[in-house]
Amino acid sequence: MSQEQNSTPRPALLSVAQALEYIRAGLKPITGFEQRALRDALGRVLASDVSSPIDVPPHANSAMDGYALRAADLPPDGETALQLIGTALAGHPYSGTVASGQCVRIMTGAKLPTGADTVVMQENARREGDTVYIGNGPRQGDHVRLPGEDIANGQIVLQQGRQLTPADLGLLASLGIAEVKVARRLRVAFFSTGDELRSLGETLQEGQIYDSNRYTLYGMLSRLGVEIIDMGVVRDRREDIVTAFRQGAAVADVLITSGGVSVGDADYVKETLESLGKVNFWKIAMKPGKPLAFGLLGETAFFGLPGNPVSSMATFYQLVQPALQQLMGQTVQQPLRLRVPCMTRLKKTPGRADYQRGILEYDAAGQLTVRSTGAQGSHVLSSMSRANCFIILPAECGNVEAGTLVEVQPFAGLI
Ligand code: AMP
Ligand code: MG
Repeated sequence: MSQEQNSTPRPALLSVAQALEYIRAGLKPITGFEQRALRDALGRVLASDVSSPIDVPPHANSAMDGYALRAADLPPDGETALQLIGTALAGHPYSGTVASGQCVRIMTGAKLPTGADTVVMQENARREGDTVYIGNGPRQGDHVRLPGEDIANGQIVLQQGRQLTPADLGLLASLGIAEVKVARRLRVAFFSTGDELRSLGETLQEGQIYDSNRYTLYGMLSRLGVEIIDMGVVRDRREDIVTAFRQGAAVADVLITSGGVSVGDADYVKETLESLGKVNFWKIAMKPGKPLAFGLLGETAFFGLPGNPVSSMATFYQLVQPALQQLMGQTVQQPLRLRVPCMTRLKKTPGRADYQRGILEYDAAGQLTVRSTGAQGSHVLSSMSRANCFIILPAECGNVEAGTLVEVQPFAGLI
């Protein structure tokens, strides 16, 4: 990963769009790829275009059950009688040739016999023994699927940067492609900071809480298909923090921390980070999730997320996830957004863009609506768990009255 150094201006508040742009400009995709068997390639990012080695379908075949014949034998009017000379089934082609005055019984998907160029549906034919009577109406080429009609030999079917879906695996299999070249997995290390944090299995003493961010991060990162290095909880001690940053930067393409980037903590962590690399401390005009640190520790991209559980998730989804996709060489697509009526009143102060937690659901009339999950504090992780979407309110917007159209981003689109 070779990257430009980032030095961004420091306006009082950076918009989400500006932050995204600074991050985008500061990162380059990792290099390195590997060959993967199809089943192991699900969710991986293609490292090169894939073109088809064959025509699909590979041979002309019938789209109907009926009779394969030569168009020249179709009657201009009245009826014509053709001699039935054999049968073509899917997987069992007719090996002979259809000559003038002849036809072959053919089933859907069966290879069109040599000599034939047209299929007449059985509903439009009448058979008596070995004679088939065809009326007028059918035209040359009817019900014939041509070779390469779906995909032509050499055609690019999937582009570099594509994250492979189940349908893509099927598509590749249909072309006989057993292995693909994918980008190597992105290595992402993370740790939580905070003297109050305890890991699962430990007993809470007075003033302590369980570390939840490492678990949400684990979940969000797992879905992205990156290699995860969980570095645990790091105490708010200078030496521990320095050591952890060094270790993370040494082993990972990306280091993500949570906590310790708010005002107060910032000077302390900032000093450490500045001695190890180039890191910007931003105040982002989004709620939840104002503080964010972004920069480089050597070749390792660094994201310092806010400590509050909802803030760290919102910041991850809005700013870090697209950055990780970019680093993985993935073509980044804007997650789906919908405009739907909001059934509850939303409190909002103009100034920052809100990413409120919402529940997207169908009302009794079958119309898609959204409602608030309730209390929107950045520490209320249960609101995130109940939600299935963000309700995105632009910076300038104030309170939203019930019934107003709002923009929502379903979590499903965030992976
Ligand atoms: P900080 O950003 O370190 O000032 O933390 C802000 C708030 O988030 C404090 O209430 C912390 O206790 C809480 N917090 C920080 N890190 C975590 C974490 N990993 N899990 C749960 N809560 C956290
Ligand atoms: Mg802290």
